[in-house]
Amino acid sequence: MAKIKMTTPIVEMDGDEMTRILWKMIKEHLIEPFIELNTEYYDLGLEHRNETDDQVTIDSANATKKYKVAVKCATITPNAARMTEYDLKEMWKSPNGTIRAILDGTVFRAPIVVKGIEPCVRNWKKPITIARHAYGDVYKSSEMKIPGAGKVELVYTDQAGEETRELVHEFDSAGIVQGMHNINHSIESFARSCFNYALDIRQDLWFATKDTISKKYDHTFKDIFQEIFDAEYKEKFEAAGITYFYTLIDDAVARVMKSEGGYIWACKNYDGDVMSDMISSAFGSLAMMTSVLVSPDGYYEYEAAHGTVQRHYYKHLEGEETSTNSVATIFAWTGALRKRGELDGSQELMDFADRLEKATIDTIEEGKMTKDLALITTIENPTVLNSEDFIKAVAEKL
Ligand code: NAP
Ligand code: MG
Repeated sequence: MAKIKMTTPIVEMDGDEMTRILWKMIKEHLIEPFIELNTEYYDLGLEHRNETDDQVTIDSANATKKYKVAVKCATITPNAARMTEYDLKEMWKSPNGTIRAILDGTVFRAPIVVKGIEPCVRNWKKPITIARHAYGDVYKSSEMKIPGAGKVELVYTDQAGEETRELVHEFDSAGIVQGMHNINHSIESFARSCFNYALDIRQDLWFATKDTISKKYDHTFKDIFQEIFDAEYKEKFEAAGITYFYTLIDDAVARVMKSEGGYIWACKNYDGDVMSDMISSAFGSLAMMTSVLVSPDGYYEYEAAHGTVQRHYYKHLEGEETSTNSVATIFAWTGALRKRGELDGSQELMDFADRLEKATIDTIEEGKMTKDLALITTIENPTVLNSEDFIKAVAEKL
């Protein structure tokens, strides 16, 4: 069989530890036998980031602007322990943070649903995708401990020096205070990313805040979404047969629990942080969550939601067998290949992505899986495979 050709490259961002090992196996067994793989390769492994003073991360993000599609392996975000372990020149920033700052955009996380790995919420039949706004609010706030009686105000000074004040609280004893912000431009990007992604995957979009209580802050989020929807997306949504739905965050939570899934839930930064952990654990496993960064300019970066699985890597280094789940990383590749196919008009590439995903799901549904899934599956007597044998089982199916 002739291999599928790719006209435009995708940006390949290699990573660290156990996921770097899986990365190589996935390419060797699942991609390269079928596709004349055309990638622009960037090694985001921590050693190479250190050698290049992290320039490689910046270069890979800029390449994503050029080619529009990237696939990324999980990477180490250095902390004090990693400084010694890798003898680092500096505590380099999180690559995901750097890439997000360059591409701007929203991260969409969705569980991979398979029969035999049942969600804790019985009525969830289809995946729920969380879209998390990745800028501002409590993540960029200023805080103070108030030692005793006194007045706290918000003060805005415009460029002409004119002040506007708003009383926060007249303290008559000790307390705490917090000031946070967001930027209309960032909220607009967030809204457009969500609307575009909903059209892309043809699913309804839900958005929720607490605008009844936060009449200026949260209400601005609500208003910006509504204005952009009415002006730019209303007709496109009607044509695609999907809806945009706004409600209060507490009402949204109640509805999510009673729903059967199959929509995108857009969340402010903090809500998205909390809700994505709830959704992923309720659907079964972090190893079954995909993640894609969608920029308002139409750039896409696909990855797994989990990290580099350090504990398994150390076992691997000691020559022990590992059973690390590669599903989310396989789906990062299929996401990127499908998008490449879509942008280049290559039906073959899109079909291949569908077939690889189906082969992966079928393998699990037939009872062949890694240890993490075997522990939670409702399938009786599952066959537990090691990291490589699972990938080989998918290859055989493919
Ligand atoms: P992690 O790699 O997600 O792993 C945490 C635990 O979750 C593992 O020890 C394992 O549990 C389980 N797990 C996660 N993925 C799995 C998989 N594919 N198959 C089987 N089990 C899986 O998180 P971490 O250990 O906290 O972080 C390790 C490194 O990853 C850190 O350096 C962090 O900076 C980085 N990280 C990167 C990204 C990213 O690049 N997007 C995201 C998060 C973290 P058991 O040990 O119980 O088997
Ligand atoms: Mg979190």
